[in-house]
Amino acid sequence: SKRWGKAIAILKEFEEKCATPTLKLKQVADAMTVEMHAGLASDGGSKLKMLISFVDNLPTGNEEGLFYALDLGGTNFRVLRVQLGGKDGVVGQEFTEVSIPPNLMVGTSHELFDYIAAELSKFVNEESEDFKVPPGRKRELGFTFSFPVKQTSISSGDLINWTKGFKIDDAVGQDVVAELRKAIERQGLDMNITALVNDTVGTLAGGRHTNKDVIAAVILGTGTNAAYVESAQAIPKWHGDLPKSGEMVINMEWGNFRSSHLPLTEYDYSLDAESLNPGEQTFEKIISGMYLGEIVRRVLYKMAEEAWFFGETVPSKLKVPFILRTPDMSAMHHDSSADLNVVKTKLKEILEISDTSLEVRKVVVALCNIVATRGARLSAAGIVGILKKLGKDTITNGEGQKNVIAMDGGLYEHYTEYRKCLENTLKELLGEGVSDSVIVEHSNDGSGTGAALLAASHSFYL
Ligand code: ADP
Ligand code: MG
Repeated sequence: SKRWGKAIAILKEFEEKCATPTLKLKQVADAMTVEMHAGLASDGGSKLKMLISFVDNLPTGNEEGLFYALDLGGTNFRVLRVQLGGKDGVVGQEFTEVSIPPNLMVGTSHELFDYIAAELSKFVNEESEDFKVPPGRKRELGFTFSFPVKQTSISSGDLINWTKGFKIDDAVGQDVVAELRKAIERQGLDMNITALVNDTVGTLAGGRHTNKDVIAAVILGTGTNAAYVESAQAIPKWHGDLPKSGEMVINMEWGNFRSSHLPLTEYDYSLDAESLNPGEQTFEKIISGMYLGEIVRRVLYKMAEEAWFFGETVPSKLKVPFILRTPDMSAMHHDSSADLNVVKTKLKEILEISDTSLEVRKVVVALCNIVATRGARLSAAGIVGILKKLGKDTITNGEGQKNVIAMDGGLYEHYTEYRKCLENTLKELLGEGVSDSVIVEHSNDGSGTGAALLAASHSFYL
């Protein structure tokens, strides 16, 4: 029918606009490399902030003692305690995960930090005999804070801006460690914050602790970001003393990457315009978990409105921003039943669309595939950009040398089709020889352990 033809035309046009042929991905990778250089040259030199982490030594594996970590970065935050046993590694670990009430994500700094500190305090009070603070010492904490921060030392840094649905204006420009410290004091808790780290930096540290060949870390979760180990001499904007190690971990803040080579569509432009941070986080808005389901919703909405894809009225739930979450999208995408039962159920339960035909459901799956494929292929291109910057995209470096990328985040962990596509695209872009030397390794909650390790290696008592 005419309506069906129109719906398919909308889908096809979207698919064409999302196309990521190899050549385009190579251009994206090259653009990433160019922007990395620009961001390292000067502050404000690029959309890529290339933030200096003040981590110039990754954990050695000799760290010892009880350390806490607090991981704030998305919809949940985690509190951990880790007993480090030197050569024996992590000998004890406990954690709790709490979701952040949505009103606190757009409220005041005081309210957010009080809430976090209260949860931290509760958790500390439940510490058992198995964990031991050395006599005469305060407890120490590594604070994983996954938003752009201009660090002023390993344990201080000012918030540059919020991302991922957070918008707490009075915290912008403030030292987040000072904010947390004050909130901890208000709880009557006696604890030192010895390291402030981005989740990518924590994941890099945690990954390196178990595998010496880790050179970079990538997070694909609610948002996305990457960090890597850079030669200190290759950072023109660094005016401090050259670290003894000769290295510095750089938090790229790659979510804010943008390039004319990125395949953007009308849906991406409108999503951006209606977001809390228009014009920012362009890369993040097409590859990360917070947004993929929302892009699918926007295309479905257009099909409903212009091609009566779901009947003569537009289903009202389809008008609600962010109602279709990425985990639901991935469940539909992974539906292997002959009659696409999962798709049917999701459409009914989330969007209140019943009586869908198999044909309609197939279109929904195809749409999920387009959105996930674009995201996964672009994230692979971003990784190739980092390898290029490090000169590790050719086989000239040592025989048998392995370059490991530590990966984490709910999207990477749970969205199998996305992960497979990312891994295949890396092979496609690197070619056979090189791709054997590049290993993507899942670093399960490396960022929490990593923050505890960094708190240990920067302990007040060393
Ligand atoms: P955060 O990034 O908030 O620190 P996570 O790394 O746990 O936390 O990532 C959570 C995100 O991962 C969710 O916001 C969601 O976008 C994505 N995600 C979680 N589960 C799934 C799933 N089953 N399929 C696809 N994406 C998922
Ligand atoms: Mg996280």
